[in-house]
Amino acid sequence: MPVEKDSKIAKWIAAIREGLPALRAHFDEWKDAVREEPTLIWATPAIRYTAYGLVGLIVVGVLVWSAGLFHPAEVAPPAETANFHVLCTAPGCAHHFVINREFDFDDFPVICPQCEQKTGQRAVRCLSKTCNGCWVVPTKRDHQYRCPFCGGYLGKVD
Ligand SMILES: [Zn+2]
Ligand SMILES: [Zn+2]
Repeated sequence: MPVEKDSKIAKWIAAIREGLPALRAHFDEWKDAVREEPTLIWATPAIRYTAYGLVGLIVVGVLVWSAGLFHPAEVAPPAETANFHVLCTAPGCAHHFVINREFDFDDFPVICPQCEQKTGQRAVRCLSKTCNGCWVVPTKRDHQYRCPFCGGYLGKVD
C-alpha cells in the first residue's frame, strides 16, 4: 500500500510542478493588468471576498469586545440567604424587625431585639382593604394562613 500511496503523492507533486509555471505566468499576467488598471484588484473575486471577510472579522471582533464591556464575565454568586420580616407577639411590644437567614430558615419564634423575649414570629403583609399592607403574624385555620385582624386569606399551609 505505501508504494501506491507514494506514487499518488509523487503524481500530485509532478502535477503541481507542471502546473506551477502556468499559474505563475497567469499571476504575472494579472499583475501586469493590475499595473495598467489598478481597479482590477477590486474586480478580482478572491481579493474582494478576502476584504469582505476581513471587514466581517473586524466587525465581529468589535461586537464581541463591546459586549464584554457591557456584560462583565463576572457573575455575582446566587444569594444563599433571604430577609424575613418578624413581628414580636409579646403584649405591648409588637416590634417589627427584619432578620437575614438561610432560605429554608424556619426556627421561629426568634428573640425580639426590643423586649428580648423569644416571641418574634414570621410576619407577612396583609393586603386587604382593612389592613392595607400591614405586617401581621398569620394564624393557621383549616390548612390556610389567615390574617388575625381581618381574617383575610394569606396562603396555604404546606
Ligand atoms: Zn418584643
Ligand atoms: Zn388583615
